[in-house]
Amino acid sequence: MTEFSEGESVTLDRLKEKMAEFARERNWDQFHSPRNLLLALVGEVGELSEIFQWKGEVPKGLPGWKEDEKLHLGEELSDVLLYLVRLSDICGVDLGKAALRKVELNAIKYPVSQKQNQTNSITDPNTTTTSHGNNNTEEFTG
Ligand SMILES: [Mg+2]
Repeated sequence: MTEFSEGESVTLDRLKEKMAEFARERNWDQFHSPRNLLLALVGEVGELSEIFQWKGEVPKGLPGWKEDEKLHLGEELSDVLLYLVRLSDICGVDLGKAALRKVELNAIKYPVSQKQNQTNSITDPNTTTTSHGNNNTEEFTG
């Protein structure tokens, strides 16, 4: 079913080409406008969210989850990634380079020494709050 050999790295460029080929073969390029792809991406984020809905906080590694639940999670994560890759391609954005640039910008915005000084309030900028009680997620990603 897959063309990838075990242990092979999958690159964003490979995914981009696979998605472009998939759409071209089905004559779906006509539907892959930025707006349509964005809305499809948001829909897939919703499907991903449903997996976690009502479960409360979930420990890392998902202990106790059934294999079919993890398989479903992988499918929805993939849907999100694939639409994001396709949207980036259609918009002419090099997603890999843009993401690396964003990590560098975040490193400047949140230097290590600053983080170390806030160990009482911040351990993970994606999931914790600041000492001011504000959700830090938007600051980290925005
Ligand atoms: Mg889906």
